[in-house]
Amino acid sequence: MGMCFGVLDALEVARTSDAPEETTVFGELVHNEAVLSELEARGFESLDEVEREGALDRIRTKRVLVTAHGIADRERERLVRRGHELIDTTCPLVRRAHAAALALEREGRHVIVLGRMGHVEVRGLVGDLESFTIVQTEDDVSDFGFAALGIVCQTTLLEERMRGLIASIELANPHADIVIRDTICEPTKERQRALRDLISRVEAIVVVGGAHSNNTQQLVTTCRAAGRVALRVASADELDFELLANYDTVGLTAGTSTPESTIDAVEAALRSSRVHC
Ligand code: SF4
Repeated sequence: MGMCFGVLDALEVARTSDAPEETTVFGELVHNEAVLSELEARGFESLDEVEREGALDRIRTKRVLVTAHGIADRERERLVRRGHELIDTTCPLVRRAHAAALALEREGRHVIVLGRMGHVEVRGLVGDLESFTIVQTEDDVSDFGFAALGIVCQTTLLEERMRGLIASIELANPHADIVIRDTICEPTKERQRALRDLISRVEAIVVVGGAHSNNTQQLVTTCRAAGRVALRVASADELDFELLANYDTVGLTAGTSTPESTIDAVEAALRSSRVHC
């Protein structure tokens, strides 16, 4: 559980930056309030993920830090044309998903991106594509009317979700030639496997992570789908001990953007309460 190498590497770059006050973080470096406050305190400017759309005019610094979620190459070029110096911390596994999507499009396929509509990584993934559809739920699936389709995934998608959506797409597009590239990243898969093991051993689960974190949300969804009570908290202060006291055994997990120190604080709070975790 906890931070993946992609987020840790991006944080390391930010923490060792020699000129934070001359740097704008392009979106949220991690979906975690505590880390965002730390960066703000060091002097980083930041654009939030909603306002960053079309907000290049508001960037006042020379340097722009691209987060691990990545951006489209077109966006990168726009920033460079405007004279910005890029500090690019895009995770290599996000780059791999971009490369897979572009390769499928070059083969003449309409690209289907399985992922959360509006999520920063998904916006980056489709940003260089001409022919694409984002599929978040079964409701987004239809006969897309293309002879050749290529499917890629947001790196933090649930594997079960990917399989379900692919089955729906195949059913709705029986005549299409479909190529699937599983671009869910290995750290996400590892965490999902570990969670399945944890779920089998506990009655309720505390998931530590920010409200905007897609993989934190996916962990909550997995717990609930398995019939477990799932409580998402951003920090130890948000623990609901009254609720947790109803369960003999409580599990603890965390999203890939949650710092170790926050997880440790939640664990310590749980252990010092009457909860058996
Ligand atoms: S969740 Fe996966 S793709 Fe995203 S930053 Fe972490 S390792 Fe990279």
